[in-house]
Amino acid sequence: MGSGDSKWIVLKFGGTSVASAENWKNIARVVEQRKSEGFSVCLVHSALSGISDCLEEIIAHAPKNNTGDLVQRVKERHLELGEALDVPTEELLADDFSELEHIVKGMELIGEASYRVQARLLAMGELMATKLGAAYLNRELGGAEWIDARSCIKTIAPKDANERSLILSAISNTDFDEPLEQKLHKAGDLVVTQGFIGSDAEDKTVVLGRGGSDVSAAYFAAKIGAERLEIWTDVPGLFSANPQNVPSARLLNHLSYEEAQEIATNGAEVLHPRSIMPARKHKIPIHVRCTQRPELSGTVISEEGADDEALVKTIAVRNNVILISMDSLGMWQQVGFLAEAFEVFRQYGLSIDLVSTSESNVTVSLDPGLNTHFHDIRSSFVEDLGAYCRVKVIESVSAVSLLGRRIRTILHQLGGAFEVFEEHKVYLVSQAANDLNFTFVVESEQADRLVRQLHDHVITQSGNQASFGLTWPELMEDKKKEGRDVSLWWREKQQQLIDIVEESGPCYVYDTDTLRTYGNLVKGIEPVDRSLYAIKANANPDVLKTFRELGFGFECVSIGEVNHVIELFPDIDRKDILFTPNFAPRTEYAEALELDVNLTLDNIYPLQQWPELFKGQELFLRIDPGHGHGHHKHVKTGGKHSKFGIPRFEIKEVAELVDELDLSIKGLHAHIGSGIKDPFSWKRTAVILHEVAKELGGVEILDLGGGFGIRENETQAHLDIQEVSNSLQKFKEAHPEYELWVEPGRFLVAVAGVLLASVTQLKGKGKVKYVGVDTGMNSFIRPALYGARHTIVNLTRLNEPNSQSVNIVGPICESGDKLGIDRLFPHSEEGDVVLVANTGAYGQVMSSNYNLRAPAKDIVI
Ligand code: ASP
Ligand code: MG
Repeated sequence: MGSGDSKWIVLKFGGTSVASAENWKNIARVVEQRKSEGFSVCLVHSALSGISDCLEEIIAHAPKNNTGDLVQRVKERHLELGEALDVPTEELLADDFSELEHIVKGMELIGEASYRVQARLLAMGELMATKLGAAYLNRELGGAEWIDARSCIKTIAPKDANERSLILSAISNTDFDEPLEQKLHKAGDLVVTQGFIGSDAEDKTVVLGRGGSDVSAAYFAAKIGAERLEIWTDVPGLFSANPQNVPSARLLNHLSYEEAQEIATNGAEVLHPRSIMPARKHKIPIHVRCTQRPELSGTVISEEGADDEALVKTIAVRNNVILISMDSLGMWQQVGFLAEAFEVFRQYGLSIDLVSTSESNVTVSLDPGLNTHFHDIRSSFVEDLGAYCRVKVIESVSAVSLLGRRIRTILHQLGGAFEVFEEHKVYLVSQAANDLNFTFVVESEQADRLVRQLHDHVITQSGNQASFGLTWPELMEDKKKEGRDVSLWWREKQQQLIDIVEESGPCYVYDTDTLRTYGNLVKGIEPVDRSLYAIKANANPDVLKTFRELGFGFECVSIGEVNHVIELFPDIDRKDILFTPNFAPRTEYAEALELDVNLTLDNIYPLQQWPELFKGQELFLRIDPGHGHGHHKHVKTGGKHSKFGIPRFEIKEVAELVDELDLSIKGLHAHIGSGIKDPFSWKRTAVILHEVAKELGGVEILDLGGGFGIRENETQAHLDIQEVSNSLQKFKEAHPEYELWVEPGRFLVAVAGVLLASVTQLKGKGKVKYVGVDTGMNSFIRPALYGARHTIVNLTRLNEPNSQSVNIVGPICESGDKLGIDRLFPHSEEGDVVLVANTGAYGQVMSSNYNLRAPAKDIVI
């Protein structure tokens, strides 16, 4: 407990985070927010970035007496930051500066630095930095108390530990420490202390190893029973691969402790591997977040969430791995061979990572980080080991690991990915017994490319996208580049939307400005002569009026839709309506001809069976281009497994019927599916329709269909409309004889609509948590029908941190009544307004009265 009975939260800020005044503004805001949420804050921070490196350099240079510049640089860095923060730095750090000089002089005099002296010097970085930080926070927020971490983190001496690790890579206990909690509690509700440092049983300064501030923060969290540990760094979380090597790497929204441990151990440098165990032991969630971008929710590590699904989450790489290959000359199955060989490793203090065996060979890998002394002992080690087997040392190879959960159960799905190994020499393959890790050791030059290929096969193309967040460029640049993101219009209308729900109950709300924005995007595709709105996506009269005002025609799929349009716009030019029925009864065709709207046939049957109906008419034909495309098999509308369109092998027959019945085929139409992001798709359709048009003759219009994909949720990219336009422009230049039409539905309306509902009840079944809302699949069936992933937010708590992973469910008596699965959500309460984004299309129109629950109503703003 913190002061009073408020709970502790530990915030750790890394070296880059604390090195600029700009970042300190963000830090102050985060601290202020946590305090306003009722937490007591224990802020642990690192030395300014680069300072620990500089101090290590001083240690290396001290024997040669040339540390003057380095010491000066350390001082200047602090003076500069202090000035930017406007705190009295000379005064604050006077003692530290003279101690720094004192230690360095001592080292120069003696000509070397003992481990003890090294630890004292390294500790200076954190001691100085936190004094500036505490002074700044004290001025900005008041009540910040500086505490010396050496009086808090007492280290322990494990059996067999050598002197170096006891002093320079020390460890501490992870039990709850009541006296420490009391001590911090007395200091107040904002303490500022150091990462990386502690003291041993003799009260002497020790450090926890490079990067150890994360570990300190985890120790503090464990010892004082914190509610949460937040690691604030200069990256937005943990990723599915190193974003510097793989730009399409995706943020990992949520990880279990086991997964995070595996990822941290296997090379991700965001989080120190030793920082996870203390949090895990006390079930303290770890949030990894970005100081420069505090609005991003980062990666949450906890024991919550759906942990039963098999999934590769990360492709990691460790470089400079050393392989020791032992040719056992047939002895490996002899009793005692491995024991004798491994005894040599033990004698030389080498710790083995991976092992693989064959009939006559045993190969092991050494992790470079844990075997830094290998090069000093190499030759005598090889000689000693050579007594038992033929030894080969293979250096500078890389270990590429697939990390995730239940990897064994999905190995068969990795088939495609394994093809990439055809071109790579693999030294060693190892599958970890914990089923979280599958590792290949390969040539170092191959590693980066292999990681990119594996990432592409296993993550980018995997069906499971729910576990992955945005890519680095999307997270860090998108915003800057585009300014306001139109798809997030509802953020700006938060209060208005909340008021609407309070008055009307569950409802769809459509934003007219956003409808216009998307309408204008389509209108802006220059080579397109005519745009129709496919009203099946959303037939709301006000929505239709908006598109009519923008000059859209309408595409209808039932005679009911045709009549709806005519009723709304009695004097519409009937040729502004295109009717495209599929397996409709004969009467609908007759009525359409009567109404004089454009009529599309998508089957040869009506011409063969009802010739008298069509004789002498002008018609459109819907052609099946022979392939389908879309985000789900139910929305692919081309290819032989789709019921739509006239197959190309029937065109000859159609041509004969055209002659016989004296028809004029005015237009050809194709629509291959929905949610298409490939900007060249429409041009391909145009080319195919042009081929068919040549066979038929007399065609004036090519209707290229719709299917324009939107950015469905925060994990996706936008369709490049400009590229669509450019490619069609090329087609148009080659074939100016055609008018080009398009007929989007979803693209025009999806983003402009949101579904709003209120929280009814909460439930926690062990690790699985539910947030119930007052409407579900009766209003919105896409998640159940297509597994569609829509962004869902708690609109009432838009700016509160996501602290849990939940399923958002409706009140319908069906297990499938889930609007969202495994979503990061803030703490929520009954009555909160929940918003499901991008629901303007195929939302209300597909709703039902199932369970006799009235679906959400429509409201246009
Ligand atoms: N300052 C220490 C280092 O750079 C500890 C840390 O920043 O985590 O290694
Ligand atoms: Mg670090």
